[in-house]
Amino acid sequence: MNLIFLGPPGAGKGTIASIVKEAFSVPHISTGDLFRANIKNETELGKQVKEILASGNLVPDEITIKMVENRLKEDDAKSGYILDGFPRTVAQADALKGMSNVDYVINFVLDRETILKRLSGRRVCKSTGRTYHILYNPPKVEGIDDETGEPLIQRDDDKEEAILNRLEVYEKSTAPLIDYYRAENLLIDLDASKSPEEIFEDLKKIVK
Ligand code: AMP
Repeated sequence: MNLIFLGPPGAGKGTIASIVKEAFSVPHISTGDLFRANIKNETELGKQVKEILASGNLVPDEITIKMVENRLKEDDAKSGYILDGFPRTVAQADALKGMSNVDYVINFVLDRETILKRLSGRRVCKSTGRTYHILYNPPKVEGIDDETGEPLIQRDDDKEEAILNRLEVYEKSTAPLIDYYRAENLLIDLDASKSPEEIFEDLKKIVK
């Protein structure tokens, strides 16, 4: 099963992907996570994209497409995948056609106000990538990761200025993919305002 998770930042794509990944035994391929891992490991790619991620702008298509192409060639992606955060431009969607067949494009639908609330309250554990929300999914001890005991941080791109920029970038560059995939009969809308459990139930009905 090859799935694309499409939708604005903060719609819960990563949260649902981590549930689906376990349930369907497919890798969760998040381009944002791949970039962040490169930044953390201070690779050449990481150095190239660090500032871009902090600002909330998009990494150039050429770099992103190459990275995904390499990732999809790995063995674990042969029997299916969840692509989260890719494609984000029409050029990326065109390039994906040459790499793989897509079964469904799940469009996470959420209003702007809820997106802003979700993103501004998001906190992450830097070493594990585990995410929390100060209101909706708080850690057991404020500001501390439940398992590692490390302090939680706010991603640079979850700060207000970057959030507004990310939403603008989404509207301009990524939202056109809704019509793109609808025209190909691959798009399925999902109400992303529900709880993760409810969203997962809805998703199971769709892809079965
Ligand atoms: P995310 O974790 O999906 O919100 O991605 C974090 C950041 O990584 C984005 O704001 C972009 O700077 C970069 N990024 C992730 N995926 C892509 C993509 N498909 N194309 C370009 N930039 C991306």
